[in-house]
Amino acid sequence: MAELLRAPRDLVLTDVEVDGRRVDVVIRDGQLGGTPKAGADVVHGRGGALLPGLNDHHLHLLATAAAARSIDCGPPSVRTAEQLRGALAVATGQSVRGTGYHESVAGPLDRALLDDLHPGRPVRVQHRTGGVWVLNSRALQELGVTQDDGRLWRGDPRLGHSSDVPDIAALGDELALLGVLGACDATPDLGPDALRLLVEADLPQQVLALGAPDDWDHPGVRRGPRKVLLGDEDLDWDSLVARVTQAHEVSRAVAIHVVTREGLLLALAALEQVGVVPGDRLEHAAVVPPDAVPRLAGLTVVTQPALAARRGDDYLRDVDPRDCPDLWRYGSLQAQGVDVVPSSDAPYGPLDPWQVLRSARDRETPSGQLLGEAERVPVRVALDGMLAPLETPGGPPRRVGDGGDLVLLHVPLEEVLRDPRREHVRLVCAAR
Ligand SMILES: [Zn+2]
Repeated sequence: MAELLRAPRDLVLTDVEVDGRRVDVVIRDGQLGGTPKAGADVVHGRGGALLPGLNDHHLHLLATAAAARSIDCGPPSVRTAEQLRGALAVATGQSVRGTGYHESVAGPLDRALLDDLHPGRPVRVQHRTGGVWVLNSRALQELGVTQDDGRLWRGDPRLGHSSDVPDIAALGDELALLGVLGACDATPDLGPDALRLLVEADLPQQVLALGAPDDWDHPGVRRGPRKVLLGDEDLDWDSLVARVTQAHEVSRAVAIHVVTREGLLLALAALEQVGVVPGDRLEHAAVVPPDAVPRLAGLTVVTQPALAARRGDDYLRDVDPRDCPDLWRYGSLQAQGVDVVPSSDAPYGPLDPWQVLRSARDRETPSGQLLGEAERVPVRVALDGMLAPLETPGGPPRRVGDGGDLVLLHVPLEEVLRDPRREHVRLVCAAR
């Protein structure tokens, strides 16, 4: 089990591996460097690698914290209607919250089906894309909503607030113990309540919020590029151009959510019309046809290798084989000079960055198939992406001393690159 230290004052890490050399690293009066203070705690590194904190360049903090209290309603844990019925039955609590639903379980989900599966308590289940929630009759009743099919889109104010506030502080500790000390929250349009929860959680992570309003200014939760959500059902050219223009006018880059080929082409056309500014990025870029690749120059693609691998069997079964090479590109984009960084997209993908590193290297689906040979990247490449600064994910990796966050591993870097695992994390020093 790893250990987390927050804002250590005086600490000496002896015999740690930094950039291939074995050195001692001193924290004195809360600053890196100088001579050790008498009586400072000493940790013997025994040649273990010392890294700056890892960054997760795209995740959803509130949804991940809430998902910790949710049941999983999709593959691989739930594959059939009867398994879903069973999972709902054994869930505890006054009401049931489920996530990760996919049609392969029991077809399109609606109120009637959910009533059949679990009529007794209010149930809400989120589709694995995150786009839509389905509520059963009891849940609709509780909210006072009449909606025949029980389907409500993400961000629908009628979804109301879940009575239990998600434990974001616990999530922050969990992330830190995985070595993650920077988090880019990719949730669009964070309201004042959500921002207050993020600030008050006093996380060990630096947080960048893509959904913060333009006038947001807070040292703990910083304003990032503006998230522009380009959902499949919301491909409106004028509003897209207006939103990109308006963000650039207030010196703010954009982070455009693109998951389809049409979405990508629309986003690229809008960026070409308005003009790209440093920091503009594409979230997911889940489908990139080959002739679009040169148009990605100057943008940063924020991809999710573990999410792609987790869904890989569905893709290999459902997607036209000719289109499979276009899915979740990483290696082929890098080979053509496009900046790409990995991320988790938790709670939709696994939170563990070490699993993300393995997926970036292996692209192995749950059934053991390979999704996109050309998209595999060495662990070193994906790790460098996690070490890239939160604010400039396309930039060079941070080094020990940049920022002050430190992650001490049990083993040298060479072993981490061969076998990335969370168990390697030994001690995490968060600068805050
Ligand atoms: Zn996301």
